[in-house]
Amino acid sequence: MYEDRRLRIVVVGSGYVGTTMAASFADLGHQVTAVDIDEDVVEALHAGDAPIHEPGLADLIERHAGGNLEASTVYDSLAGADLVYLAVQTPTDEAGNIDTTALETAARMSGEAIADQPPAERPVIVIKSTVTPPHVETIRAAAAAGAGDETLEVAMNPEFLREGSAVSDFREPDKLVFGTSSQRGDDMLTAAFEPIIEATNPVVIRTDPDTAAMIKYANNAFLAAKISLINDLGNICKEFGIDAYEVADAIGADDRIGEQFLRSGVGWGGSCFPKDVRAIIQAATAAGYRPAVLEAAVAVNAEQPARMLELLDEHVDVEDQRVAVLGLAFKPGTDDVRNSRAIPLIEGLQERGANVVAYDPVASEEMQARIPEIEYAKSAARALDGAVGALIVTAWDEFETLDDAFDAMDRQLVVDGRRVIEPRPGMTYEGLTW
Ligand code: NAD
Repeated sequence: MYEDRRLRIVVVGSGYVGTTMAASFADLGHQVTAVDIDEDVVEALHAGDAPIHEPGLADLIERHAGGNLEASTVYDSLAGADLVYLAVQTPTDEAGNIDTTALETAARMSGEAIADQPPAERPVIVIKSTVTPPHVETIRAAAAAGAGDETLEVAMNPEFLREGSAVSDFREPDKLVFGTSSQRGDDMLTAAFEPIIEATNPVVIRTDPDTAAMIKYANNAFLAAKISLINDLGNICKEFGIDAYEVADAIGADDRIGEQFLRSGVGWGGSCFPKDVRAIIQAATAAGYRPAVLEAAVAVNAEQPARMLELLDEHVDVEDQRVAVLGLAFKPGTDDVRNSRAIPLIEGLQERGANVVAYDPVASEEMQARIPEIEYAKSAARALDGAVGALIVTAWDEFETLDDAFDAMDRQLVVDGRRVIEPRPGMTYEGLTW
């Protein structure tokens, strides 16, 4: 029975990844403690609430909180653990370099928490956060310094879940990447994921920690570049009056290309693609190689919101006019607005002197914390009421059925950045790449 193979797992950092992982490991039967320095996060977990919006997560937390899912602001629980995951944020600085300050602190504190244990009884420390290959050693060294043991090993188990479907992605991964430097590390990771491996049979890649770190960047860089390439091609289609989606359907039928990630539009955002692509470009450049394709992928992505605004400009002067922005989350299914395409769009509208009214089913509060000065509507219909134009930024399902709500616009002008709505009679409709 799996019960016999239950591990004691500590997850340090309880954000989008850490909370999903902690709740999911608890659901697999492991005894899990989520550690976070943010008291609000720990309080939410104690109360059985999800500190972030993610489908299915609240149910898991409600089911396991106080049972095999505990939460704490201190690192005490590490000493009794089998496995310690470091899942704190790794943002980029202004130049795009990875900032590992928080992760180094977490690694050092984790090392300190297990310093008194004999090496063979210490938990295996695993980096879950995304770090460039040269930083794997930085984090290992921070943990080793904390433990006072230069030989301390740290494994790398990068995460491929997508916000919006994080719980099911964790439960049914395409692949697992175990970057370890010892059999014990590999055994522990295998034991942690055993129920998933048995149930869904994902590809398991066993490699060293640096290669594991690179696989994560290669994965995100490839996907981001694929979207930028279809956007580049989509922009050409728009110039020629061709529907980029018809072209994408055709090329997607080629096995070598594949049908996924071929929806052209306003581009990629979120907490991962922008920072990860920039971080690997910076790391490569520092090592003496400039990745030209990745630089171009970033450049195309940066231009897409401006192209959307140009399409709006072709039809209306928005100065002192009400303009609706529908969708603020960087993608449907999440309240995450980090690097959302809505941000440059709202800024562009503000520069034009427009009165922006924004709506999102779950992310309005998050955006309000960043951009407080615009109006936030309680529904899409209210945002559209009296507007001279609307920008569709996030592909939320509910935008597909707005129908009569467009009648309340002063002028039925819609620029769709995600191919979400069907044009209606009387509507001026601009698709970004179609
Ligand atoms: P996040 O910002 O949502 O959460 C990080 C959490 O760590 C916060 O709650 C913060 O309070 C906590 N924290 C910071 N310092 C700490 C410390 N010293 N001790 C304990 N807790 C601490 O971050 P996230 O989006 O979950 O991302 C975490 C990592 O996973 C990043 O490296 C990211 O690149 C990577 N990743 C994210 C995703 C995603 O979809 N969000 C997917 C794959 C990988």
